[in-house]
Amino acid sequence: MPVLVMKFGGTSVANLDRIRRAAKRVGVEVAKGYDVIVIVSAMSGKTNELVGWVSETSPMFDAREYDAVVSSGENVTAGLMALTLQEMDVPARSWQGWQVPLRTTSAHSAARIEEIPTENLSSKFREGMRVAVVAGFQGVSPEGRITTLGRGGSDTTAVAFAAAFDAERCDIYTDVDGVYTTDPRITDKARKLDRIAFEEMLELASLGAKVLQTRSVELAMRYKVKLRVLSSFEEQSDSAGTLVCDEEEIMESKVVAGVAFSRDEAKMTLLSVADRPGIAATIFTALSEGGVNVDMIVQNISEEGRTDMTFSCPIDQVRRAEAALAKARSEKALNFSELVADTGVAKVSVVGIGMRSHTGVAAKMFQVLSAEGINIKVITTSEIKISVLIDRKYMELAVQALHDAFELEKAA
Ligand code: ADP
Ligand code: ASP
Ligand code: MG
Repeated sequence: MPVLVMKFGGTSVANLDRIRRAAKRVGVEVAKGYDVIVIVSAMSGKTNELVGWVSETSPMFDAREYDAVVSSGENVTAGLMALTLQEMDVPARSWQGWQVPLRTTSAHSAARIEEIPTENLSSKFREGMRVAVVAGFQGVSPEGRITTLGRGGSDTTAVAFAAAFDAERCDIYTDVDGVYTTDPRITDKARKLDRIAFEEMLELASLGAKVLQTRSVELAMRYKVKLRVLSSFEEQSDSAGTLVCDEEEIMESKVVAGVAFSRDEAKMTLLSVADRPGIAATIFTALSEGGVNVDMIVQNISEEGRTDMTFSCPIDQVRRAEAALAKARSEKALNFSELVADTGVAKVSVVGIGMRSHTGVAAKMFQVLSAEGINIKVITTSEIKISVLIDRKYMELAVQALHDAFELEKAA
């Protein structure tokens, strides 16, 4: 039988009533003749609560124990979803990551999927199981310990299962009815896109649009998974939602496809670093070894052999960054006068594959921000995006102004 993957995010399984509604959607697809793999997230808010408990218990926590705790939210919803389906007379069984087994690397809290053997689920499907409810977000390391795939990781579980089982489609059910030109919570002018190119979705996701985890888009692109984002709260037709697809499958597109933002950024500056060959290597090796995800980097012009080095990282990694650089200062003779952390910044980005062939997007973006009196602290660009770091208090204003200026509320 053809296989369909259906993923339900936190708000779609937030309580027993929502789980029942999601199960009904699954029932509709089973009735059409699909074997369904349902991927569930934890009930909304649950993972945040678990992360909070871990951080309160141990601020510099052991990531293996973090995974042991935070993976548990999905176990609850997987079991409840299987029970709900059984109550509807749909033969269903829950699966935790290790039971599949979904094999990952041992990079705890940010593990990557290595392999999903299909035998266990396939043999149960052959025996009459119609729905496999798999706990998203979790897997098992080569050492046999539970791992998690990073926040939002259930999306990646879903796409990986769709690839492994050659599913007809991977439907991501969430609390919005598709991918929008920007987060609809920031402006009601945000417009739903019927289609978006993989590459644009990849950039939007990696720049903060949390509607899909970045890695899920990467996998869908690589394994040619038909990926759709749609609402679990509305009645659905087969053409509902947003299809994430190849660029060639989109007839008309605008130069800028969307605006993304990331609220929880920090800007760190090492003042008066001794400027000599190897200095960047020393700093960024120390940060990488300390588990810090560095994003933007700027090095100032050197004066009298000293320079300032600025980088950005997620705000919850500031302590790790400080610890890593203090260690490098004492052990690797990293020479700087001071480390200044600015935890009041946000990143705003415009994304579009049209930028490859159109000039002037950066100039327009900077003019718009300047007209609003917003100061730009750091800029980075790639072929299809421009990102700026600004004061967090102006983030919403910047997103709205850019959305207006690039006329994203209008279709191409
Ligand atoms: P789930 O729990 O279903 O995984 P998430 O909260 O992870 O849902 O992702 C859905 C949310 O992503 C939406 O509620 C919306 O606020 C946010 N979002 C951010 N950017 C976008 C965008 N460009 N289009 C749609 N939603 C977006
Ligand atoms: N529950 C996990 C999280 O909140 C995974 C997911 O929902 O995708 O990050
Ligand atoms: Mg999500």
